[in-house]
Amino acid sequence: MFCPKCKAEYRAGFTRCADCGENLVEQLPSEEPPVRDKHADNAELVQILTTSDMTDVITIKSILDSEGIEYLLRGEQMMYIDPYDPVILYVRQEDTERVMALLKDVKLNYFRFIFHKDQYK
Ligand SMILES: [Zn+2]
Repeated sequence: MFCPKCKAEYRAGFTRCADCGENLVEQLPSEEPPVRDKHADNAELVQILTTSDMTDVITIKSILDSEGIEYLLRGEQMMYIDPYDPVILYVRQEDTERVMALLKDVKLNYFRFIFHKDQYK
């Protein structure tokens, strides 16, 4: 059991945090849930990764283009203005596993995977 406020862990049987008086929960909400783009018109988009490297963007685009996967690169134009503003790659939720498999072995210069498969269970 965990306190949602101070994140203290309690043994089973406890219902209230001794410090905050908060009701304990079985599991703390995950710190970094995948961000979904609510503005997508017809599909639910999932953030896959961020990169600040132009070469990465070109590599990713060529892979996804050749596989015929639809994607959205947010902030691509901004890279020319502010190279430290990372580009975010979004794909449709149903393509997520395929994209992850495709990009898994690709050598990218600077990127960070955002998507965590486990959080979809
Ligand atoms: Zn507490």
